[in-house]
Amino acid sequence: MAAIRIAVVGMGKIARDQHLPSIAGNTEFELVASVSPRDPGVEGVANFKSLEALLADGPAIDAIALCTPPQVRYSLAAMALDKGLHVFLEKPPGATLAEVDALEAQAAQTGATLFAGWHSRFAAGVAPAKAWLADRRIDRVSIVWREDVRVWHPGQAWIWEPGGLGVFDPGINALSIATEILPEPFFLASATLSTPANRAAPIAADLAFRSASGTPITMDLDWRQTGPQSWDIVVDTDAGTLRLARGGAVLTLPEGSSEHDDAEYAGLYARFAALVRDGRSEVDTTPFTLVADAFLRGTRVSVAAFDD
Ligand code: NAP
Repeated sequence: MAAIRIAVVGMGKIARDQHLPSIAGNTEFELVASVSPRDPGVEGVANFKSLEALLADGPAIDAIALCTPPQVRYSLAAMALDKGLHVFLEKPPGATLAEVDALEAQAAQTGATLFAGWHSRFAAGVAPAKAWLADRRIDRVSIVWREDVRVWHPGQAWIWEPGGLGVFDPGINALSIATEILPEPFFLASATLSTPANRAAPIAADLAFRSASGTPITMDLDWRQTGPQSWDIVVDTDAGTLRLARGGAVLTLPEGSSEHDDAEYAGLYARFAALVRDGRSEVDTTPFTLVADAFLRGTRVSVAAFDD
């Protein structure tokens, strides 16, 4: 089968750190173009300032990977689907739930593949954690995602704006893992969102969820963490404690630990290729729904102004 000719749209941090190397490492894809308002692009690859310009004057493509901030994702995805192109959406899949639903319906109509990628679900410990938990009684779950925003998101103004999600930008990764590994669905019970006086999005959040059978799930998100960073999920069960650390890379079970090299984006691109080959879409908005519910239902607290 011919390689899928792909353009990367939004040449920022994640495009350069992960998408370009993963495309280069997967023979099912060929990078034929990049799109970004200011980025100089990749040597030897056609570069455009806008998706409109690529679609009007660029080389033939089969697919795009959308690595822009979420606030502009819908219109770009809709434009690509309108041309029959397959679309890989970085997480979160949009700025609102309804626009993602609209994209899913559009993809179904055109027959193109729409893939809402959740990279943390491809962390090495996630599939074995899911398998281990499948038969257990879950007693409680604790999620602690504490990182230093100055280290991980320097100068990203969009992340503080409406639709940028603030601390839920990393927090949604934790929810993408929890919704994947826990055998039962869960929903929000209460939340407190702490938003700096000079920003539109929260810098920290405390959340309580529970499953339909009553399992308590707590989540502690904080972007003001200096020193050691935490991306940990601890699940207490009737057979002992499961710990997923480093964002899903390290799995510790009562019988021992395992750790593997980061292959999240290699896994995402393998899944995208399989979906395109099979003519299917994959759009799971569950993590995004839980975040939207936190904004809908949470108590707002104003905290000290924050400057980068
Ligand atoms: P970023 O560094 O700010 O990059 C976003 C890029 O999008 C910018 O370089 C900007 O290009 C480009 N852009 C903005 N509007 C555009 C448009 N209309 N058309 C084409 N390009 C446009 O952000 P990021 O960290 O890479 O994050 C992007 C997305 O990936 C977010 O949804 C984020 O949640 C997700 N993500 C990020 C990480 C991470 O570690 N950073 C990890 C996983 C997922 P110019 O610079 O050319 O203006």
